[in-house]
Amino acid sequence: MSVLSDGQLLAIRTGLGYDSHRLVEGKRLVLGGVDVPHSHGLAGHSDADALAHAICDALLGAAGLGDIGTHFPDTDPTYADADSIGLLRRVRALVEVDHAIVNVDSTIHAESPKMAPHIPNMRARLATALGIPERRVNVKAKTGEGVGPVGTGQAIEATAIATLYQRDVA
Ligand code: MG
Repeated sequence: MSVLSDGQLLAIRTGLGYDSHRLVEGKRLVLGGVDVPHSHGLAGHSDADALAHAICDALLGAAGLGDIGTHFPDTDPTYADADSIGLLRRVRALVEVDHAIVNVDSTIHAESPKMAPHIPNMRARLATALGIPERRVNVKAKTGEGVGPVGTGQAIEATAIATLYQRDVA
């Protein structure tokens, strides 16, 4: 906890996010709000954007607001094929009630395709949704080295961490 020169108390909060979706034929592959051309896409109730979902959970976790499933249940038909960037904007609104978003770091775990060419677009889309500069939204990518659900191409996973300032700490 810190005290600013104007007497306002600030606390730093961090939150962790993780998501995993199964790779199937005949679905779009959407990660970080970007359509990534690939032979397979992610199965799920919404657009199955595992990266956006992990970031939502990191933000909600940092704010102590539960998780994406409690706010946007996958049993609710409203969220069928939902654009997860839209969900991220709604999560931003929830956390910004008494927090400011400092930064987000994230990793995509995928055996293929190559993510590097798409990362600049993902950062741009995520940063716009979060209302922060691109340099405060980092996206990295790793393969599964041929091992496990990621390495054998059965799933794509994403992990994220978010840091928030909580304002006016009581
Ligand atoms: Mg998900």
